[in-house]
Amino acid sequence: MDLASLIRTIPDFPKPGIQFKDIESITEHPEAFAWVIQQFADECENHSIDRIVALDARGFLFGAALGLQLGLPVVMARKKGKLGGDCVSETYSLEYGEAEVELQKTAIKQGDQVLIIDDLLATGGTASAAAALVNQVGGNVRLFAFVIELAELNGRARLGDVDTMALVQF
Ligand code: IMP
Repeated sequence: MDLASLIRTIPDFPKPGIQFKDIESITEHPEAFAWVIQQFADECENHSIDRIVALDARGFLFGAALGLQLGLPVVMARKKGKLGGDCVSETYSLEYGEAEVELQKTAIKQGDQVLIIDDLLATGGTASAAAALVNQVGGNVRLFAFVIELAELNGRARLGDVDTMALVQF
C-alpha cells in the first residue's frame, strides 16, 4: 500500500511554515484504513498486547478500530480537563510552551502490556508523556504505533528502547 502518495499535505497549517500531514486521507479510503489497521494488528499480536491507549485526538480513530478488530480494551489519554474521575497527569514541552495529558487511574490494570497509538510521531513529546502516564498507573508500554513518522525530528530517541512502528516516514 503506497501510503506516502495517498497522504495529503496541508501547507501552512496550523501555522505558517508547517506542512500538516492530513490522516483523513487514509480514513476516508476504507481499503487503506483496513490495511493500516491490519499492520498494527499483526504487531500487537507479536507483542502480546492486552490494552490499547489511544492518544487525543486522531489516535482515537486508529485505536478504536484496532481494539475492535483484536477484541482488546481501548482507553484514552486526553488533553487536560477532558476526562472525568481520578486522573494522573503529565506535563510536556511543545515548540512554544507546555501541554498536559491525562489518563484515568483505573484505565490500566497492573501489569498490562500496553500499546500506545497515535496518528503521527513528531518530536515524541506527546507519546513519551503518555508512556509516563501508563508507567505511573502500573502498566508496561510494550509498543508504540504511528501511521506517520516525521523522521528528521527524531522522536524515536525520546521513546527509549520500547519497540516503535511507523507505517510511513516523511
Ligand atoms: P509530538 O508530540 O511532537 O510527537 O507531536 C505529535 C502530536 O502532534 C500527535 O498527537 C499528532 O496528532 C500531532 N501532529 C503534529 N504534526 C502533525 C501533522 O502534520 N499531522 C497530524 N498531526 C500532527
